[in-house]
Amino acid sequence: MGYKIQIEDFNAILRELRRVYRVFAPVNMKGKGPYAGTDLVGYAEISKFEQVVYNQKTVYSAKEALFKPVETLFYFTEEEFKQPAIQTNKILIFVRPCDINAFKRLDEIFINNGPYKDNYYQQRREKVKFILMECGAGFDNCFCVAMGTNATDDYSLLLRPAEGFVACQIKDPEFDAYFNGFNDSMEITPRFVEKNNITIQLPQNMDIDNDILNNPLWQEYTLRCTGCGRCNFVCPTCSCFTMQDIFYRDNDNSGERRRVWASCMVDGFTDMAGGHAFRNNQGDRMRFKVMHKFYDFHKRFGYHMCVGCGRCDDICPEYISIVKCVNKLKSSSPGGE
Ligand code: SF4
Ligand code: SF4
Repeated sequence: MGYKIQIEDFNAILRELRRVYRVFAPVNMKGKGPYAGTDLVGYAEISKFEQVVYNQKTVYSAKEALFKPVETLFYFTEEEFKQPAIQTNKILIFVRPCDINAFKRLDEIFINNGPYKDNYYQQRREKVKFILMECGAGFDNCFCVAMGTNATDDYSLLLRPAEGFVACQIKDPEFDAYFNGFNDSMEITPRFVEKNNITIQLPQNMDIDNDILNNPLWQEYTLRCTGCGRCNFVCPTCSCFTMQDIFYRDNDNSGERRRVWASCMVDGFTDMAGGHAFRNNQGDRMRFKVMHKFYDFHKRFGYHMCVGCGRCDDICPEYISIVKCVNKLKSSSPGGE
């Protein structure tokens, strides 16, 4: 069922929703862009529909609503430790199809990858519902169609901005009550992107062998990549973190253990006790990242980790493109055909 709802009426619905849900959406963050005087489109809590930015891709994905850049896992003293209180609010996120598919990948890593579930992630994930945002013609560097992530049916509401009103599809009965009393009904079904400007040649039947390990193409990235890690931090499927123990100044036997986003492209990621490091140059790190997105995850879960959002290509200060890298890998590696 769908409705046409005037924007002020939708904002009244949003006020009711916010009594139960924290509502996150892409918004314009004034002055937060990478250069002086520039803005950034990123996720924040909203109170009005007009705040939602539909016509741009966010720089960072919505993953931080569930997997925080910095999170305290527990507080400790000499004698005991205590976990932070569990968050009780439900969460509603305005999100595009590729990013909904990215949450499926994060679920595999944090919940389905072995016998131990990540309780911190899971307790939030159980409270999350999605509001589907359509993409129109898509954005620069997107290749979601090739990755099969351009469409989804995992959403509760579809909201499409129109001239003076919001077109709403209510898919999840949990939300029916919020729309009682609105009778300007319309047919609405999601429109998904069917073609991107960029295509990726995915290697089939690829296996990691010496041809891939020693492929000279990786050396290009040793020369070009600065190891800034931006490509990982904007990626909706990157899930690596490191641990930090913080000791309080007034009692250095007490403190907190935090987990903090980490990047496989940054120096020190593979450092081990004793001083050994597995991947010492940017070419090796690029190889690891690309093979993780397009090989190992697929081997374990049966589909690729990358959802083709193109954020890593958008953000790289050296104009390094994961799509071009995978295309070169396919054309240069006998194992990549
Ligand atoms: S690897 Fe790049 S294109 Fe793929 S999901 Fe991550 S940021 Fe998006
Ligand atoms: S964003 Fe570009 S330069 Fe920075 S680590 Fe990633 S590939 Fe290297």
